[in-house]
Amino acid sequence: MAYITGLTKDKQVWTPEFVISIDKETCIGCGRCFKACAKGVLSFEEEELHDSTKAYMKVLNQGKCIGCGACGRTCPKGCFSFEAVELP
Ligand code: SF4
Ligand code: SF4
Repeated sequence: MAYITGLTKDKQVWTPEFVISIDKETCIGCGRCFKACAKGVLSFEEEELHDSTKAYMKVLNQGKCIGCGACGRTCPKGCFSFEAVELP
């Protein structure tokens, strides 16, 4: 099975793991991942509940992800899921 790979500056091959989902239930809406992502993949959302407002992060532009993993490393709640992507 072949996956999308990249090269480091010194031409070492690495396999990026791209974001596929964020667990809305465990997300506390802290925004750390949003600040970490340089590619505009994530979207800060708010949902009105009956007696409060829930803030959470959503994957908005999945196709723009470069698989750097920065968002997942900043998340204190382990909300992110990633996967390598197979080449067609
Ligand atoms: S893996 Fe990198 S590019 Fe993709 S959503 Fe996370 S921070 Fe953004
Ligand atoms: S860092 Fe984690 S808990 Fe904070 S907004 Fe992002 S997904 Fe939610």
